[in-house]
Amino acid sequence: MRLRYLAGLLLVPGLVLPVPALAETRKPYEKQPVAEGYGGAVATVDLDASRTAIEILRRGGNAVDAAVAASATLGVTEPFVAALGGGGFFLYYDARTGRVHTIDGRETAPAAMRQDSFMENGAPIPFAEAVTSGLSVGAPGTVRQWELALRKWGKMSLRQVLQPAIEVARRGFTVDEEFIAQTAVNLDRFKDIVPTRELFLPGGNLPVLGSTFRNPDLARTYRELAAGGPDAFYRGSLAAEIVDAVRRPPVDPASTRNVRPGLLTVDDLRGYRAVLREPTRVGYRGLDVYGMAPPSSGGSTVGEALNIISSLPKTGDRVEALHRYLEASRLSYADRGRYVGDVPDVPLKELLSTGFARERACLIGERAMPHPATPGSPDGTYGGCPAAGGTPDPLTYEGPQTTHLTVADKWGNVVAYTITIEQFGGNGVVVPGRGFLLNNELTDFSFIPSATDPNLPGPGKRPRSSMSPTIVLKDGRPFLAVGTPGGSTIITTVLQILLNRVDFGMSLPEALAAPRATQRNTPSTFAEQAFIDAYGPALTARGHTLALFPGPPAGFIGAATGIEFTGHGRIQAVAEPTRRGGGSALVVRPLDDDD
Ligand code: GLU
Repeated sequence: MRLRYLAGLLLVPGLVLPVPALAETRKPYEKQPVAEGYGGAVATVDLDASRTAIEILRRGGNAVDAAVAASATLGVTEPFVAALGGGGFFLYYDARTGRVHTIDGRETAPAAMRQDSFMENGAPIPFAEAVTSGLSVGAPGTVRQWELALRKWGKMSLRQVLQPAIEVARRGFTVDEEFIAQTAVNLDRFKDIVPTRELFLPGGNLPVLGSTFRNPDLARTYRELAAGGPDAFYRGSLAAEIVDAVRRPPVDPASTRNVRPGLLTVDDLRGYRAVLREPTRVGYRGLDVYGMAPPSSGGSTVGEALNIISSLPKTGDRVEALHRYLEASRLSYADRGRYVGDVPDVPLKELLSTGFARERACLIGERAMPHPATPGSPDGTYGGCPAAGGTPDPLTYEGPQTTHLTVADKWGNVVAYTITIEQFGGNGVVVPGRGFLLNNELTDFSFIPSATDPNLPGPGKRPRSSMSPTIVLKDGRPFLAVGTPGGSTIITTVLQILLNRVDFGMSLPEALAAPRATQRNTPSTFAEQAFIDAYGPALTARGHTLALFPGPPAGFIGAATGIEFTGHGRIQAVAEPTRRGGGSALVVRPLDDDD
């Protein structure tokens, strides 16, 4: 979504750092999937967000400042995937200490939520109805996450980093095909919800290609946050307005849509905390792979699959390697379903142990194993090749509509940040007069109570996520950082990018572009057509059933971004080249820069 201003940041009040006259002398920013150079880099799905980050870096901000600023801008230009009303997971490599930190900004269930809150008359609420409801709204985590990241590691204030997004919201951006497509998939429900219709359906219709989309309400909301800090979101009138929109969804009285009220209270908002968590870490081929711990299953599931693969003897045969990737993924999803969620007893250390990986790997044979794979026993006692026990828990549905951004600065700090409001358009409810949509993240919980499911709703719980922001170190220094949207396919996309880059000798741009397949302990392996064309016959001969990924969007999995550190301070920023309209990679000092 293209921005209307060229050098707006130069005029931004609140940016107190010295401002060189850059924009006049530099080439205009162009949307391109790969950029190489020095001095800092960013990759996002969106040129406006990338431009925001690079301007912050050029003005002396660090990777944390730039990541927060870019995510706020995405809240304007990608309002259906990233908004104040959502949450996310933030990974940060601190160049000064050489350590990786994470912040969990996951949405949190209200105190009144129970394990059967999505059940009615003994049956689960139809999924689509649960999505477009107040029930699906968790206390948003984004603003507290920004606050914590800036306070711990940033150089700028929230007020400063919000300025670019305020400008974009005020001046507007040019509506493109992707924005229209994302509105179109929401058309029916947006029509029924009054403030959503007023904001996103001008005159009751889809926005027009090439028109300017302004969001003065969001500009005002951001200004209130800039002036009042995070408490302006979590307490006071905005908090009361959010709660009102959740408990009395503003549905058009003429509509017959059943939009159930939610359970969120002002106390839930006031009590929200972003949480610093230890990252997950596994070694893979001499690299250290860091990821997000529970309540995300990203770090543990990516890590377990990598451990399983590396416990097998190396192979140079691509089909064999892909077979192992699919089988390792299948097994890891079985374990994720049984053991990972926002519960106190996740056996994280054992799930990521090499002993457990070896025990699981011995189930991988010549042919695809029978469906479903059952969970293993991460109990600290390993050996032999035990038949796994127990019944697998069902794969919970997670929408494919998040966004991931990756940023590095000239000091060597790195951020991998995945943000979401869950579905395209979240729960469909714009907080009246506030310019942002609410999340439907609580539909990531399982709906049907079960004694063995670690992902049941409950008071103050965070739904299990698949988000997998990932930072890879080599000899203690950043090698690459990556992440993607895609609901539960996030894990397999990140895995594939790592395998493509590390084992298959692809460059990072090739690794992101390569066709994908996703095996999440489902009977069929879903894949993109190009993957089926290339490997379908060989994998079918090994017992796999391949089918076109049903979407949404049909046939395409993920839209990743990443950064590779290619040595001597040189950086390669990489965004998705084509899926979802492609992304935007920028560096502070491009290789071809004359100055
Ligand atoms: N809600 C999903 C999760 O937390 C993410 C949705 C998406 O990728 O669009 O894993």
